[in-house]
Amino acid sequence: MPILDRLIAASVPLVPRPLMRRLSSRYIAGENRADALHRGKELAAKDYRLTFDQLGEAVNSKEEVEAAAKEYHDLLDDLAAHDLERNISLKPTQMGLDIGEDYCFEVVGDILRHASELQAFVRFEMEESSTIDATLRVFQRLRISYPGTVGCVLQSMLHRTEQDVRDLLQEEAPLNVRMVKGIYVEPASIAYPDGGEVNDSYVRCSKLLLEGGAFVAAATHDDKLVEEYKKFRVSIPGAEERSELQMLCGVREQERQAWHEQGLPLRVYLPYGSAWRKYVERRLRKNPKLARYALLGMWKRQEKMG
Ligand SMILES: Cc1cc2nc3c(=O)[nH]c(=O)nc-3n(C[C@H](O)[C@H](O)[C@H](O)COP(=O)(O)OP(=O)(O)OC[C@H]3O[C@@H](n4cnc5c(N)ncnc54)[C@H](O)[C@@H]3O)c2cc1C
Repeated sequence: MPILDRLIAASVPLVPRPLMRRLSSRYIAGENRADALHRGKELAAKDYRLTFDQLGEAVNSKEEVEAAAKEYHDLLDDLAAHDLERNISLKPTQMGLDIGEDYCFEVVGDILRHASELQAFVRFEMEESSTIDATLRVFQRLRISYPGTVGCVLQSMLHRTEQDVRDLLQEEAPLNVRMVKGIYVEPASIAYPDGGEVNDSYVRCSKLLLEGGAFVAAATHDDKLVEEYKKFRVSIPGAEERSELQMLCGVREQERQAWHEQGLPLRVYLPYGSAWRKYVERRLRKNPKLARYALLGMWKRQEKMG
């Protein structure tokens, strides 16, 4: 990691709470479900698709897992009550993956049963490479037990991902994959070192998935990948109905609006919760590139205000 990035990463915990709160407010709907519903309504009024995420990860006690799961159950009910799209994203380690695969399967299975009743969709996210095998094993069980209700995430920065795509396509149950580059800093031995290779892998895996009949959520803010998406969306039969773009709340909003106006189906990822500081710190520490984006964004806003 370059020295400037290491300095940025090391200084993240020193950022005072009010500054960090300001830094995060652009990317996070708020501290509670009511904030998320409020922001969700604003975005839904602009015709965006939505996915709601309760912040939290690496939970090690069953009490905490069950509290997080209860929040997701309540969220599903509230989304239905407010007539908002019932689409949620959750992290495997927030749902007890570190406690045990069977336990995680049960906790998420309960959420999926509830989701099926409400015609909702649940995205089982992807975290560090050390968790991928367990995540995919639990995902495959969920996908077979609750067909059409759950999807996963694959990270194009990893060498293994193309094989993971091929393995997932072997199973007949419906497959819905969010393709991302990957947010975690991974060892050079398992990840592509170069942005061009990460993008090539992204396009290759997305096309393989679409040609194999899967739904692909192209989650990216990268102009080059969005251009690629526009091409394969129309060149692969069925891809227009089986794909969408996804973007994080607060990121490249002008481009998001432009792509939306061009008629691209666009889902906004809306995180909320009291665990924002831990989440933002970890994200910034793990990926100094994000810290630079965030700091630059804040500086620009201050400049406008000043
Ligand atoms: C909906 C969604 C869900 C995701 N889920 C996961 C997941 O489950 N697991 C996982 O590992 N990763 C996940 N990610 C993160 C992803 O892996 C990337 O780290 C992130 O999207 C940045 O990559 P990019 O494709 O946008 O390309 P980049 O090349 O990193 O970014 C392209 C451009 O977008 C802008 N940009 C990107 N991120 C930011 C930001 N935070 N703030 C301001 N500007 C920014 C910059 O201008 C940059 O030049 C998710 C991303 C999205 C959009």
